[in-house]
Amino acid sequence: VSVDDIAYDALLEWVADEVAPYVGEGRVADYIPALANVPPDRFGMALATVDGHLYGVGDFQERFSLQSISKVFTLALVMAGDAGALRGRVGVEPSGNAFNSLIQLEYERGIPRNPFINAGALVVTDILQTQTGDAAGAVLDFLRAESGDHTVTIDGAVAASEGEHGDLNLALAHFMAAYGNIENPVDLTAEHYFRHCSIAMSCAETAMAALFLARHGVRTDGTRLLPVLGAKRVNALMMTCGAYDAAGDFAFRVGLPGKSGVGGGIVAVVPGRAALCVWSPALDPHGNSVAGVEALDRFSAATGWSVF
Ligand code: GLU
Repeated sequence: VSVDDIAYDALLEWVADEVAPYVGEGRVADYIPALANVPPDRFGMALATVDGHLYGVGDFQERFSLQSISKVFTLALVMAGDAGALRGRVGVEPSGNAFNSLIQLEYERGIPRNPFINAGALVVTDILQTQTGDAAGAVLDFLRAESGDHTVTIDGAVAASEGEHGDLNLALAHFMAAYGNIENPVDLTAEHYFRHCSIAMSCAETAMAALFLARHGVRTDGTRLLPVLGAKRVNALMMTCGAYDAAGDFAFRVGLPGKSGVGGGIVAVVPGRAALCVWSPALDPHGNSVAGVEALDRFSAATGWSVF
């Protein structure tokens, strides 16, 4: 099937119908009050093709909290600034532990396993802070440019809530600082991490923003953010580490590079073809959107677009 032959709107409608019974199944993230109030019955999905066309279904224009999806963009920006910046500071192996786990950091002397667990994302944010002087601002600027919407912003209530309930993330950052793996003041790095996690975007905006990963590093304005090799590396990390400690299950079922967040969003990349974002707030015990994984599963089965 060629890209042109697919009636994307009908395909997305079909996926939405298929997964309707799953919408609301699971639990909305409640580790901070600002997220616990999100209605569980939402579902949206958007597809952006490499030629810049956008398709959507359901609540695909409603903004939600990006949370860990933002980690894809911090990573890409750091790699764009300095391809070697992560060397010696963050690994590239799946962790098999919970996203906020401290355990492995002690064995590996303050070097997080990968850039997508919280510890790794804190290090990536720390590097971006050194590179730019304003890590959260750099992520926001990038997302505004790629989504084409300059009203994209940080949800202040969510950011404040992250800060008030941030003991575990601060503990991770302090622990790594003790090993010299956080170079800015811990509170500053953590604040920028909380802020970029609190950016609110819709499925439509997020799919557009992730399109550079489907376009082998090329941004929506035609300029290059990452070399082909850099885009490949970000996609590989999404495939192996992007769905918390269920990354294996996600690869097994969906077979696309993806990154989920506890706001209920999942972004997925079909290299050379499209970027997708699905959102439904109720999560499985690993922190992945139940209806979101179901939708991507249906989508990749129907299109045959699994990279495998
Ligand atoms: N801001 C969240 C935290 O650090 C991100 C969680 C997530 O989406 O995985 O706990």
